[in-house]
This record gives sequence, C-alpha cells and structure tokens, in this order.
Amino acid sequence: MLIEIPARRGKAVRLRRGQSVRVVNTRGQQVVDTWAFVADDIAEFMSMEHSRVAIGRIIPGIGDSMVTNRRRPILTLIADNSGGIHDTLFAACDRWRYELLGCAGYHDNCTDNLAAALAELGLVPPETPAPLNLFMNIPVVDGNRVEIRPPVSTPGSYVTLRAEADCIVAFSACPQDIVPINGLALQPTEAHFDVLD
Ligand SMILES: [Zn+2]
Repeated sequence: MLIEIPARRGKAVRLRRGQSVRVVNTRGQQVVDTWAFVADDIAEFMSMEHSRVAIGRIIPGIGDSMVTNRRRPILTLIADNSGGIHDTLFAACDRWRYELLGCAGYHDNCTDNLAAALAELGLVPPETPAPLNLFMNIPVVDGNRVEIRPPVSTPGSYVTLRAEADCIVAFSACPQDIVPINGLALQPTEAHFDVLD
C-alpha cells in the first residue's frame, strides 16, 4: 500500500529487520530526505559521515549498507532505478537555511518535518542527523566544489532500502523552493513509499 509523503511534509514508519521500504519519486523531481533510527534506542541512528567510511564513496550504490553512529548496518540500498544520483553531503534544510536565503517569516523545512514525523510516533529526535538525501543531485566539481543541480530522477522511479535492524525510518519531501533542489520549477511535490515484507 502506497503511503503519501505530502508535499513539504514529513512521514515516519516503523520497519522490522528484513523488511524493506520502497521510496517512489512520484512526480520525478522531488528530493526525499531520509533518516533511520534504531527502534529500541533512537540515540543510535543512520550516520552519513560513518556511512561514507563504510562504503568508501559519497553516493551509495546497490548493495551498499549505510551504518549508524555506532557503525552498525541499518539500511541497505537494494534497488534503484532513479539514475543513482543521491546526496550524503548536505545537511537537512532548517529555518536558518531559509533565513540565509532571504525568506521573511517561517518556511517549511526538513528539520521540523523530521521532528513532526517522529512526534506522530511519540518520539523526539535526539538531534537532526545528516540525512540520506534521496534523488538530490549535488555533484562534486573539480574534486572539491559542490553544486546544486536538479534531480535526474524520472516520475515513478524509486529506490528500495532494506532494514538491517528494527528501526524507525523518517522521510521529508523537501520544501526547498528557493534553489533548484527539487527541479527548475522550484515546485515541491508529494512523494510516496510502501513497506515490503
Ligand atoms: Zn529540505
């Protein structure tokens, strides 16, 4: 059953070890920030800095396992027909990011979406870990400079992540509409996921 991640909002789901979650880029240009927390101790969570050490590169490929801040596998990428372009370098957007981009007043953001998604499960995130930014296109140019480019994913393309531990996975359909993280139209949209046994 497909579950919606509403445009500009977050959603979380519990996974048992061995289950998978398929994250669908419904309209093709939507970045989905993704986090995972160990179910019985959410102080242990998927860590991009530890995962880059574990996989030896900055973008996971099929078969790569992301690890926690205690270096234990938590999510393995088992399918990807989106073009294989994701990001592990950028922090989740937050109110301060949008202030720096010139927004007056409140702007929806992935940090608050994570907190709201976990609150629906009665949980409080210990911090905002760096997310696995699915479908986000941040190339490293000339071996050093990072650029923000539109996603290469297409409507209906997806990635599938298998849980290597009982965990809570949270998503945010990134509300970025100032820079072209979510495509040149600057139009955040909904995405979907489903849980596979
Ligand atoms: Zn965001």
